[in-house]
Amino acid sequence: MDCIFCKISKKEIKSEIIFEDDLTICFKDLNPVAPIHFLIIPKIHIASTSEINEKNSDVLARIFGNISKIALKFCHNGYRVVSNTGVNAGQSVMHMHFHILAGRELDWPPG
Ligand code: AMP
Ligand code: ZN
Repeated sequence: MDCIFCKISKKEIKSEIIFEDDLTICFKDLNPVAPIHFLIIPKIHIASTSEINEKNSDVLARIFGNISKIALKFCHNGYRVVSNTGVNAGQSVMHMHFHILAGRELDWPPG
């Protein structure tokens, strides 16, 4: 499968890695929209949050546990976790990912 985030998780494409364990990898977004803009993904291919189920949700628990650790280190005044899912939400890479945004005030509601 030609998936750019699978390639990042296998180190076939270079990325600026922030954190990694056996199930997940967190790296800097190529086009940051905030001073801190990381993406955290499962190493296995899951297309989007709409494909989470009881068989693969262990990775989700790990992702959120790792987000807490990453935020402790990098996000001192709060942060936002976003997962765009599907066309209307603007998902552009079809490998589930969670944006971690921090380092400035973030508007609400999002556009
Ligand atoms: P989304 O639009 O929610 O699917 O987010 C996809 C994100 O992936 C965008 O913020 C892109 O800037 C980012 N992105 C795409 N390719 C790469 C890459 N090779 N390395 C890091 N981030 C990337
Ligand atoms: Zn993938």
